[in-house]
Amino acid sequence: MLPFVSDPNYAFEAQWIAALQAAMPDETVVPLAQLDAAAREACSVAVVANPQPEDLRSLPRLRWVHSVWAGVERLVAELAGTDLQIVRLVDPQLAQTMAEAVLAWTLYLHRDMPHYARQQAARAWQPRDYVPPQGKVVGLLGLGALGEAAARVLRQAGFVVHGWSRTPHTIDGVQCHAGEGGLANMLPRADILVCLLPLTPQTRGLLDHARLGLLRPEASLINFARGAVVDDGALKHALDRGALRHAVLDVFATEPLPADSWHWAHPAVTVLPHISAPTNRQTASRIVAANIAAYRRSGVVPASVDRLRGY
Ligand code: NAP
Repeated sequence: MLPFVSDPNYAFEAQWIAALQAAMPDETVVPLAQLDAAAREACSVAVVANPQPEDLRSLPRLRWVHSVWAGVERLVAELAGTDLQIVRLVDPQLAQTMAEAVLAWTLYLHRDMPHYARQQAARAWQPRDYVPPQGKVVGLLGLGALGEAAARVLRQAGFVVHGWSRTPHTIDGVQCHAGEGGLANMLPRADILVCLLPLTPQTRGLLDHARLGLLRPEASLINFARGAVVDDGALKHALDRGALRHAVLDVFATEPLPADSWHWAHPAVTVLPHISAPTNRQTASRIVAANIAAYRRSGVVPASVDRLRGY
């Protein structure tokens, strides 16, 4: 039996179990509650979506969990002190969906849509000069599964693409930077900065007063990663004093975004309800199925999250 372990209030448990079962006809996918003591004793792998840590502790021989999400900062934190391995979702469909979102909101900023919406409200007819994408630099924070896919789509659309990662990368047509010095090099060049970094102890609060201060006042920010990568107070300060043109925010330190949050009504902020790249249950289930089948065959846990690195 293969348990699906999720938060008790999770609304899509049944849909996930159906999709996983369809992708794994040789497995019996069930909610954790359906496992009796013997089945719990025998279980070495579970598929998880925001599980309660105590639920995982009820599986004494659990070796690894397969998350159906790409971001695993919560699992990494909650499973600290255990030797459970965490496998996260790496799905080309998810990367393509995120790349589409990056292109959509990059174009939204590139073509000054927030500005023209404000002009329409004021009944103002004032065309701005057009600058082609070849004259705009998009800086990507993170060149992983999502960042690399976004880089290719942006290149195809004609933008000048720079990217930043922890270790050096080489991507055709992309100016790659790495490490602290690389970030200081990239930030002042960006017209649009797109955050696709995992949330780790190193990236929490990364975009603080000092780093946001390296951006030019005409620059805009898109955060599609995790809210806490950006220092919220520093972001508000930069937007309030015109040191940053606009922020498109899909992720927030607290979600859902509280009704009294400053972001909702800020004229230089576009609020999105964490929709940039929803997981596709069918393609994700096929990826999970392939990883679990490989494990059943070989006994080897697939490539997993580096618990020390945090991603
Ligand atoms: P990934 O493949 O693990 O890539 C992470 C990238 O970030 C890598 O290039 C890595 O550098 C870089 N990085 C990590 N720590 C760094 C640091 N301290 N300094 C510089 N670069 C650093 O992750 P992914 O699959 O692309 O996903 C990225 C994040 O997107 C996820 O963690 C999740 O939080 C978020 N996400 C959001 C949504 C949404 O709907 N909003 C959907 C899916 C995912 P190296 O290449 O050198 O290792």
